[in-house]
Amino acid sequence: MRLVVLGPPGAGKGTQAVRLAERFACADVATGDIFRANVSEGTELGRAAQEYMDRGDLVPDEVVIAMVMDRLVESDCDGGFVLDGFPRTVNQAEALDRRLAELGTPLEAALSFDVTEEELLQRLAGRAAAQHRSDDAEQTIRHRLEVFAIKTRPLIDYYAHRGLLTNVDAIGPIEVVTKRILAALDGNRRPW
Ligand code: AMP
Repeated sequence: MRLVVLGPPGAGKGTQAVRLAERFACADVATGDIFRANVSEGTELGRAAQEYMDRGDLVPDEVVIAMVMDRLVESDCDGGFVLDGFPRTVNQAEALDRRLAELGTPLEAALSFDVTEEELLQRLAGRAAAQHRSDDAEQTIRHRLEVFAIKTRPLIDYYAHRGLLTNVDAIGPIEVVTKRILAALDGNRRPW
């Protein structure tokens, strides 16, 4: 399975991506996790990303795209991948499409997680307390939601035009949301 997971911060993408990668026996590639690991290890990539992350801004496309293109050719991606947190801009989505076309392995689906803003703010405040994520502070949360609306939401149309979009009601217990996703993916499965 080759899947991208779209949705605002707090929509539950990370939780569901882990479960889907397990279900489809493919790699879970979470760009935010890769950046956080690099920040805590003090690598050059981590230093390049940290100021953007702390502000709730996107890391520049060229940095993210290079990182993901390298990651997708690692052997654990041979059986497919669930991309969580990438793409976040149309530029990133185009780079991904080009690369997958070169590899002859196009995307199979883009999931868009629907959650109300009220629910998101509640979830993110809970996560800030539980995980001490510096970018879950309230004003940063609001900024990240704006960045999502401006830069990432256009990807919903991008994938809809390509016939790849599946909307998911992401409110409810974790297992229920997973079941909805699996049912939707099954329903949309193409005949090839
Ligand atoms: P996340 O855990 O996916 O919410 O990502 C945390 C932070 O990492 C984001 O707020 C961005 O600063 C950065 N980041 C993760 N993925 C991307 C991406 N595809 N493009 C740009 N920045 C990203």
